[in-house]
Amino acid sequence: MSSHMTESIDLRELDLFAFCRKGGSAAGEVAVRDLPRILAETAAQAPASAADEVFAYTATGFSREEASEPGAPVAQRLFLDLSINGHVWLNCQRCLEVYAEPVATSMRFEVFASDAAADSAPMDDDEIDAIVGSKRFSLLELIEDEVLLALPAAPKHSVCPEVHESLVTGADGEVEPEAAPEEEEKRPSPFAALAGLKTRH
Ligand SMILES: [Zn+2]
Repeated sequence: MSSHMTESIDLRELDLFAFCRKGGSAAGEVAVRDLPRILAETAAQAPASAADEVFAYTATGFSREEASEPGAPVAQRLFLDLSINGHVWLNCQRCLEVYAEPVATSMRFEVFASDAAADSAPMDDDEIDAIVGSKRFSLLELIEDEVLLALPAAPKHSVCPEVHESLVTGADGEVEPEAAPEEEEKRPSPFAALAGLKTRH
């Protein structure tokens, strides 16, 4: 466990209220193999080591004594800052190759005691999401939620490695793999050349 200035916490059962009240801070890594919904999103062609990869996270709790809105009584409000860095192996919709989609997300949450409290809270700040805390809160699930939310709806390389013109239809770059003309079979495949490059080292 690496910890300097941070504490080691139970990611599956964290007293989130206490963590925020005392201004707790934690950092570490979560393995993809512990995140079943990320594994489900991972491309079948991902490297075999994909499940051993990790997301680095930092979590910082804090509290503020303030009214939730003007005129309301001053109360203790609890917040959690969460940052996650890593990547998820996805299939590029443009060239169909597997690639590592970088995930770098930072969120601030206000922690409420109950669903009812979260629902009735005036969320005046779009940058802050409401979550319901618990004395046995799964930070692991929250990390997984946030990674999933950070994934693109249409995964694509920022720049595809050599996309053959025939695989791209239309300006939006949508790929229609079934529609490849038969004559393309006779030409040397650009992917075969790419595969040669990959195995060389
Ligand atoms: Zn691509």
